[in-house]
Amino acid sequence: MTDDGLPPLREVINSFGLAAKKSLGQNFLTDLNLTGKIARSAGDLSNSVIYEVGPGPGALTRALLMNGAYRVVAVEMDERCIEAQKQIQAAYPGRLEVIHGDAMQVDERELIGDPGDKDIRIVANLPYNVGTALLIKWLTAENWLPWYKSLTLMFQKEVGDRIVAQPGSKAYGRLSVLAQYRAEARKLFDVPARAFVPPPKVTSCIVQITPHEEKPDTPNQKVLERVVSAAFGQRRKMLRASLKSLGVDPLPKLEAAGIKETARAEELSVEDFCRLARHYES
Ligand code: SAM
Repeated sequence: MTDDGLPPLREVINSFGLAAKKSLGQNFLTDLNLTGKIARSAGDLSNSVIYEVGPGPGALTRALLMNGAYRVVAVEMDERCIEAQKQIQAAYPGRLEVIHGDAMQVDERELIGDPGDKDIRIVANLPYNVGTALLIKWLTAENWLPWYKSLTLMFQKEVGDRIVAQPGSKAYGRLSVLAQYRAEARKLFDVPARAFVPPPKVTSCIVQITPHEEKPDTPNQKVLERVVSAAFGQRRKMLRASLKSLGVDPLPKLEAAGIKETARAEELSVEDFCRLARHYES
């Protein structure tokens, strides 16, 4: 038995026959010390409803509950894992809801309902095959500040590097700008492949994203996305060429934003992109 009186994760995986399915991006964590560290890094759990994607056998779910999460709402696509989660529900009566579904399709707000005076935080060891798509779903939330207070997420290290990348680096791109233009994105720590069953080929990392208020000059998200996609779509080209795909002459826009027409996408800071996007709004 472990600290929460439930069987060790390896036993759960064996007894429920949870052979990992690659198609569902299944790499399970088994060390409750590690998942405890992830849970504690997510902020004030006792004041939060946690939304978890892919609870699997439950290593992170258990750590969230053990560390005082007020309530956990989880969406899992694999029915076998939902069976395994019933043990956890019994150990924490009324604090865990597990929904069978596809996290890409669900309306999270509807699932969670009214959180009352609690914050909503998203904490998840994301399936690598839909991790980036889910992040984009959350970062492009219609209202800002969004419905969640923070995202604490496990990604493959390469994706984590792209999220927090700074200008001038190879990893800097569309995801970096999208994650940083109205939120703070930080990498918290790496998680080695050996922490998972089965071990993936690459190192993973935990990233935390905390939305902040939009400023009066924060650009329209769709316009920013179009500008950033055009710029990084042909990242080796100068902006005077790559931005032509937006259908208007880029030179006056670049000049108005005070950006050299010969610059390339990766040289622009997030603020530069925001300023440029504002000029594409008109
Ligand atoms: N949270 C567990 C852990 O840390 O050990 C499992 C993490 S595993 C990387 C990803 C989990 O997401 C798996 O349990 C998988 O079945 C589930 N999953 C995959 N695609 C999903 C989707 N579209 N919606 C909901 N869950 C999904």
